[in-house]
Amino acid sequence: MIEEILPYKCRCGGTLKWSQCAVEFYGIDFGIRKCEVCTSCSSEYFDDKTTSEIEQEVKKRKLFGLERNISITKSGNSLVMRLPPEITKFTNLHYKDNIRIFPTSKHIEVQLIL
Ligand SMILES: [Zn+2]
Repeated sequence: MIEEILPYKCRCGGTLKWSQCAVEFYGIDFGIRKCEVCTSCSSEYFDDKTTSEIEQEVKKRKLFGLERNISITKSGNSLVMRLPPEITKFTNLHYKDNIRIFPTSKHIEVQLIL
């Protein structure tokens, strides 16, 4: 893979290089796309074509607008994420269902156990 350093910098001030990224949004696999990757913070940036394809697919599947900011509360020693009804309805998640969570670099991924 040829990696070319770009003439502009990342938001963090790091160096950007062309690379290939596995693109996934809302659990939809968009395959391997050309992207700009920061060598400092690992942020990935996509070109307009990829961004618009992602937006179209997300809108088509009516996922647009499901993203929410939620606040973390506390219960004993645990932190609690309250899932909004739009999300639980969309994912068919119910009270007392089991889910699996695991941290990725800067995210917490939630997997439904079927
Ligand atoms: Zn960066």
